[in-house]
Amino acid sequence: MTGTGENVHGSGDSGGLVLVLNSGSSSVKFAVLAPASGERVLAGMAEKVGTPEAELRIRRYPDHIATEPLPEGSYQAVISRILGHLSEAGLGTEDGASGPGQARLVGAGHRVVHGGERFTASVLVDDQVIAAIRSSSHLAPLHNPANLAGIEAVRAVRPALPQVAVFDTAFHQTMPPRAFRYAVPEDWYTRYGVRRYGFHGTSYRFVSQQAAALLGRPLTELRLVTAHLGNGCSVAAVRDGVSVDTTMGLTPLEGLVMGTRSGDVDPGVFGYLAERAGLTIEGLDETLNTASGLTGISGVGNDMRAVEAAAAEGNRRAQLAVEVFVHRLAKAIAGMVVGLERLDALVFTAGIGENSAFVRGQVMSRLGFLGLIEDAEANARHGRDTRGRISLDGPVVAMVVPTDEELMIARDTARLTASGARLL
Ligand code: ADP
Repeated sequence: MTGTGENVHGSGDSGGLVLVLNSGSSSVKFAVLAPASGERVLAGMAEKVGTPEAELRIRRYPDHIATEPLPEGSYQAVISRILGHLSEAGLGTEDGASGPGQARLVGAGHRVVHGGERFTASVLVDDQVIAAIRSSSHLAPLHNPANLAGIEAVRAVRPALPQVAVFDTAFHQTMPPRAFRYAVPEDWYTRYGVRRYGFHGTSYRFVSQQAAALLGRPLTELRLVTAHLGNGCSVAAVRDGVSVDTTMGLTPLEGLVMGTRSGDVDPGVFGYLAERAGLTIEGLDETLNTASGLTGISGVGNDMRAVEAAAAEGNRRAQLAVEVFVHRLAKAIAGMVVGLERLDALVFTAGIGENSAFVRGQVMSRLGFLGLIEDAEANARHGRDTRGRISLDGPVVAMVVPTDEELMIARDTARLTASGARLL
């Protein structure tokens, strides 16, 4: 029995355990955690899923780490093995018969990338939900089918386990039409669903709640700009707890400069390069998604740490990449204030947002006109000793709030499976 397992048994966390899955086309990221405390029991990743070279890397908390081949390679094999590890730890029985209630697996929560206009919140999975996710697949052809494969694998291995789908897009369904509509012909929207959906919604929901708690103010009275800066980057305007604007659009390509994605470009570039360079739509789409952003400008790569280091050593392309990244980010943050009409706090999160004091400092220095003044010492310490705060006293607070999308998915799953159980 691991120490963490003992903690879960004894933590008084009556929410049970939740298996959280992020199923991609060839990888599955997973965690098993207690939704009330956020305590992890297992976490890891399966790679090369769907091939005989599939491999599972798993950590059983606190310190048992294993890498196992999965010759069968299927999503089902991945799920079976995760559940096998759980029962080896004496946890995760379906009915709780062999242990206290806290150790019971109460559900599986899945990250689903695109919920279209159908899903405005997380839902319990049933046949209709599966059909609706499938019918949104044209909006995320690489992601939704993989997310569904994860759902179907859990069904096959543990048919009685309740499942919940948590959508990246759902949080932004509160955006008003003036924020989500493109100025294109009406039938592009009505026939093909061409509109802005926005992503990173699970992260925004989590950090907004955390920010309100750290500020000691009700979320329903706060006007926030939240900046999720990871490999994908976006910002959102969160007004009284709901999203009113965001930078990503129909796809996660729109908006900010990202690791390998361009963010906004003139759509005229398609016709221009088709004509001048003979590029195809597929080729252009691929380049804008995988060879642009920090990678494209700097030539160094998509990792902000490497780009910052190269810039500090005098690499001009890397310097320019950071400058463009920061300029576009600051501009987008200021633009989000239009939908808020007042700004109370700017929240930085995800890999770059949580760790790059340099990027945050640069952004704040460009937003002085909003009333933001960096507290350099607090920023250097990532707000760890100041309840997230990295700005000096003023009308707007800047803060760092670590995101935890897995925990948000686990909480949604526990809440919905408990209410589902009540309905039965
Ligand atoms: P994902 O979107 O895949 O979840 P993350 O949220 O982990 O990604 O963010 C990855 C990004 O965070 C990378 O660009 C990485 O370089 C950046 N990052 C992580 N740590 C630092 C750091 N100390 N300074 C600057 N950037 C960092």
